Amino acid sequence: MSQQGYVATPPYSQSQPGIGLSPPHYGHYGDPSHAGSPPGMMKPAGPLGAAAPGGMLPQGPSPPGPHQFGQNGAHAQGHPPQRFPGPPPVNSATPSYAPYSPSTQSSYPSPASTASVTQLASQLNAMHINSYGSGMAPPGQGLPGPPAPLFQGLPRPPQPSIMQPGSQVLPPPPTALNGPGSSPLPPSTHRQDGLPGPAPLNAQYQPPPLPGQTLGTGYSPQQASYGPQMAGGQLSYPGGFPGGPAQMAGPPQLQKKLDPDSIPSPIQVIENDRATRGGQVYATNSRGQVPPLVTTDCVIQDQGNASPRYIRCTTYCFPCTSDMAKQAQIPLAAVIKPFATIPSNETPLYLVNHGENGPVRCNRCKAYMCPFMQFIEGGRRYQCGFCNCVNDVPPFYFQHLDHIGRRLDHYEKPELSLGSYEYVATLDYCRKNKPPNPPAFIFMIDVSYSNIKNGLVKLICEELKTVLEKLPKEEQEETSAIRVGFITYNKVLHFFNVKSNLAQPQMMVVTDVGEVFVPLLDGFLVNYQESQSVIHNLLDQIPEMFADSNENETVFAPVIQAGMEALKAADCPGKLFIFHSSLPTAEAPGKLKNRDDKKLINTDKEKILFQPQTNVYDSLAKDCVAHGCCVTLFLFPSQYVDVASLGLVPQLTGGTLYKYNNFQMHMDSQQFLNDLRNDIEKKIGFDAIMRIRTSTGFRATDFFGGIFMNNTTDVEMAAIDCDKAVTVEFKHDDKLAEDSGALIQCAVLYTTIGGQRRLRIHNLSLNCSSQLADLYKSCETDALINFFAKSAFKAVLHQPLKVIREILVNQTAHMLACYRKNCASPSAASQLILPDSMKILPVYMNCLLKNCVLLSRPEISTDERAYQRQLVMTMGVADSQLFFYPQLLPIHTLDVKSTALPTAIRCSESRLSEEGIFLLANGLNMFLWLGVSSPPELIQGIFNVPSFAHINTDMTTLPEVGNPYSQTLRMIMSIIQQKRPYSMKLTIVKQREQPEMVFRQFLVEDKGLYGGSSYVDFLCCVHKEICQLLN
Ligand SMILES: [Zn+2]
Repeated sequence: MSQQGYVATPPYSQSQPGIGLSPPHYGHYGDPSHAGSPPGMMKPAGPLGAAAPGGMLPQGPSPPGPHQFGQNGAHAQGHPPQRFPGPPPVNSATPSYAPYSPSTQSSYPSPASTASVTQLASQLNAMHINSYGSGMAPPGQGLPGPPAPLFQGLPRPPQPSIMQPGSQVLPPPPTALNGPGSSPLPPSTHRQDGLPGPAPLNAQYQPPPLPGQTLGTGYSPQQASYGPQMAGGQLSYPGGFPGGPAQMAGPPQLQKKLDPDSIPSPIQVIENDRATRGGQVYATNSRGQVPPLVTTDCVIQDQGNASPRYIRCTTYCFPCTSDMAKQAQIPLAAVIKPFATIPSNETPLYLVNHGENGPVRCNRCKAYMCPFMQFIEGGRRYQCGFCNCVNDVPPFYFQHLDHIGRRLDHYEKPELSLGSYEYVATLDYCRKNKPPNPPAFIFMIDVSYSNIKNGLVKLICEELKTVLEKLPKEEQEETSAIRVGFITYNKVLHFFNVKSNLAQPQMMVVTDVGEVFVPLLDGFLVNYQESQSVIHNLLDQIPEMFADSNENETVFAPVIQAGMEALKAADCPGKLFIFHSSLPTAEAPGKLKNRDDKKLINTDKEKILFQPQTNVYDSLAKDCVAHGCCVTLFLFPSQYVDVASLGLVPQLTGGTLYKYNNFQMHMDSQQFLNDLRNDIEKKIGFDAIMRIRTSTGFRATDFFGGIFMNNTTDVEMAAIDCDKAVTVEFKHDDKLAEDSGALIQCAVLYTTIGGQRRLRIHNLSLNCSSQLADLYKSCETDALINFFAKSAFKAVLHQPLKVIREILVNQTAHMLACYRKNCASPSAASQLILPDSMKILPVYMNCLLKNCVLLSRPEISTDERAYQRQLVMTMGVADSQLFFYPQLLPIHTLDVKSTALPTAIRCSESRLSEEGIFLLANGLNMFLWLGVSSPPELIQGIFNVPSFAHINTDMTTLPEVGNPYSQTLRMIMSIIQQKRPYSMKLTIVKQREQPEMVFRQFLVEDKGLYGGSSYVDFLCCVHKEICQLLN
């Protein structure tokens, strides 16, 4: 294993300059171009395939040099490489909290706000500033630099010497907005918005919402600007919008102003989809159908393709040729959540049992029987939809065909008529050809001094008594088949014998952490019901047992090793629940040192911070996966604990990482307990291997997720639960035909919680087209962002962040430029034209670029970045959508008589109002923001206190006040929390008080506190890139 040693990366995704099928500009981050397997390779491997450990190991990643990106789009055309630059000069580097008041010039403490070098950008900033509150600040103030030179002539090359964060992504001068070579004046005079005085500037803004007023409606009249749905919207600025009343008057050279209300709004897109497709039945009967958005509630009916709850694609129409794919640069990918939770009003998966015969499979490609198999010759044979091989129908499976060539039992067999179903697997699909044992859960508690002292150990032990009653079980079973075991540790390990016939639990100490062995077999893993009294006895005793311990040091790798060895000895898969708090500094394998080096930030070595500091965890993860041992880690750090190292095994084994910074019993226990309960109870499959099969012409080339790969095709997971998604990228290896389409089959072989071996099959058929317009029409931005995030976050292990950010911007511009060039109807070069399906791609992409993982800033903790990186790697589309673009709800508009959520508003400070109360959620955090003039009756209703000043911001749950406001708000919060994998901690934020800084980071349309441009600025930047590409 190499020093960089990130074994999750399969060999073909490692950078191998010079090999591979794709030209450099198509690949992401240098070259995921799958040199490992030849085109068309479809290993007809056995059920377990080439899964045996010790097979092909990934080559050490060879970090590609910058030359690989030299041909990347605009970059190659001499475009300045650095668009998302690093930290600003010292004096503006650390934003300090600046309470904003009407008299403050720059209320927005962005480091970039002082760095603006164009008048236009300054105006945009000024709009942000003044949009809040009464907006009395004269917009001319705080605008640095003489504007004049920047508005002369054609776009000037950026001047790095004076550029600061934000400035390089600033909107180009007006001429650039018009497109190079076009007239410096706008093509029309729809808008005469010149240098505004205070009043017009405000007039241009949508006023802050008043109580009872719904935001976002201002957008609808302008929708027409995005053009006909078919051709995609055409956003043209300046002057392209129905401008409304003359908003601005002033010198014409300062006309360009982007009204945030006139650029595509994520909220509007979400609401439009809800309005047209919400509450309906969505049947998956046609190929290449684009499903409703993840944010739209509807009932999914499986009619031959997998539900979008299981698979979502970046586009539902693949280009016919790889040339087309390269031209468009739209990633071809599927986000697969094989164990997704299905709502109770939808049909659960059918279970097909062919007895000893097992599933029917194609002889050549081993694809499973599915609706894409074509029966011929009176039903005696069938042609495989994936490899075209003609197979004999096994005698037990024979059935006559009807007059249209369909089997008479078509609708009686799930595998013939449905997109998703399960097979009972035969012994051939089991390890060593024998049925698996039911899985086990092992609870491993760090009992070092601090955990005992702060009460955490007691809390965990108390909770386990309750939660063990709820171990997951098969639906038809009365009790859970899962066995449980207990270990505590500091720098040594304590195993417990909790056999049911014991009066007292027995402890066995293992001090040799260098080579952990399991000191007992009988009595370690037990049935909870049988051993309940001994277990409760143990859980009562543990906090007492270590009450006087002064041990500060802990081990970590030996803990995982011990759990894995115990599962191995019991010959069963399972899950370790580890509750850990500190950097493991005790002398043992996997010992870590504090290597949190902020000096690496913004250098080529920054990637080291995301890599594990020792390869012990790599090989441990590999062993765990080989033995079906999934590791879930609850971390309670009070300082740096090296999440990049500690989190590696959880990530590669399909486990979950939970992190509670500076855990405080009264503030954080609820969040932790919710997570623990949810994690123990969630649906999960063990010892899983996923295999993606495709029809001829394309294949899966790269995989992202909580996975491990020993070869190029078998995606191994020690376990996979209902919240984990694997994102798969596809590439062409031949032409695709429009008539046969592109077919995908995802098969997951796994062990159920009851110990049954099963195959879960998901099938999806996509269209193919030789028209680029078809491709763009069928794109899904939410899935695109999921893909971009995962591929970028994977790349941070090997690439400088600067390069990754550039690639993201370039590819965004490329995708949009290709559309503009090939699909849009002729229009002025000045127009920014966005395909309808991608009109919010820029805003989402900007959110990704501003995420702390990609933002190289010393203010953000290294552990937090590593943590978020890891979370995103396993997210499904709905979770990544919410994570990158949080939900912001005006609570003061609540209708207490309705159960409907208020319409969300855009994540920008300009949308808040001091009379309002807003709830923000991103899947990890929840904030309740209260404006200084929040209505007292609402405050009374929610908090049961008389005024704003009386609100206690220390609470993390709202009090239960017996009135409709309180009830409705708490219900809304629980609806938002539902279906989310992490319990969101609530923070109460009062306007103009310190914690608001944290809250503001989530207002993702604004400039970031730590850098990262505003949506408006980013859109200008993308437009400029597009113009350059089109030139
Ligand atoms: Zn086949």
